[in-house]
Amino acid sequence: MRRLYVAGNWKMNLNLAEAKALVEGLKKGLAAEAQIDVAVCPPFYMLVALAELLKGTRIGLGAQNCHFEAKGAFTGEISPPMLKDAGCDTVIIGHSERRQYFGEAGELLKKKVVAALGAGLKVIYCIGETLTEREAGRTEAVISRHLREVCGPDVSLDHVTIAYEPVWAIGTGKTATPAQAQEAHACCRSEIAKIYNAAVAAAVPIQYGGSVKPDIARELMSQPDVDGALVGGASLKAANFLGIIEGALAARK
Ligand code: PEP
Repeated sequence: MRRLYVAGNWKMNLNLAEAKALVEGLKKGLAAEAQIDVAVCPPFYMLVALAELLKGTRIGLGAQNCHFEAKGAFTGEISPPMLKDAGCDTVIIGHSERRQYFGEAGELLKKKVVAALGAGLKVIYCIGETLTEREAGRTEAVISRHLREVCGPDVSLDHVTIAYEPVWAIGTGKTATPAQAQEAHACCRSEIAKIYNAAVAAAVPIQYGGSVKPDIARELMSQPDVDGALVGGASLKAANFLGIIEGALAARK
C-alpha cells in the first residue's frame, strides 16, 4: 500500500519567528508512530534555520522551487545542490503559481525535475487544470500534457510524488469534491501507466491540493487514488495542518 504523504506549502508567508513556532507546534503534535510522511516547504531564507530545528524529527523539509543548473550566473536563483546543502530533502516543482506568474512550463520543468533528482532531492511535481480548461472538458488532456512534459523513459518516478492541484481550487476555498479528486487522480494513474507501466502507476503517490482543510481531509484521502495532500493556506497554522494529518490517518483506518 502506498504511504500517505502530507506536505505544507507555506508560499511567501510567515517570518522566521512564526515559522519556528509553527515547526515546534508540529513537532509537539505529530505522533512518532503515525504512519504518514510529513513535510513543510518554507520560503528559502528560512531553510537552514528550520533544518536545524527539524533534525532528528520525522518532518521533511522542502523548497518551493529550484533552478536546473548546479551553479553559475543566475541572479536570484537557487540550485538543487544548494537546497541539499541547506538541509532540504524535497523540492516542489511546477506549482501552478510558478506556471501562472513566472511562465514555467514544459522543457524547463523537466530540466528542473531532472536536476533535482540528480542532486538527491525528492520531487513533488504539480499538475492541474484551470477552471476554463475544466469547463471546456479539457481536464484529462491537461493532466496528460503536464505529466508528459516531465515523465518518460529518461525520468524515474521512484522519488517523485505527483500533486494534482486543480488551479480553480488553489487558495479559493473551493475544494474539489472527493469524487472529482478521485476521477482526476485515477486519470493521472492511468496516464502514468501508459507512459511507464502498471507497476509504476500503482506505486507513485498522488497528493491532492486545493483548499484542503481538516473537515474535508478524511473524505478526500479515503478515495482509493488519493495518497495525501499538498496544503497551502491551512498549513500555516499547526492546529489546521495537524487536523489534516489526523484526517489522512483516519482515512486509512
Ligand atoms: C497550494 O498552494 O499548493 C495549495 C494547495 O494552496 P491552498 O491549500 O491554499 O489552496
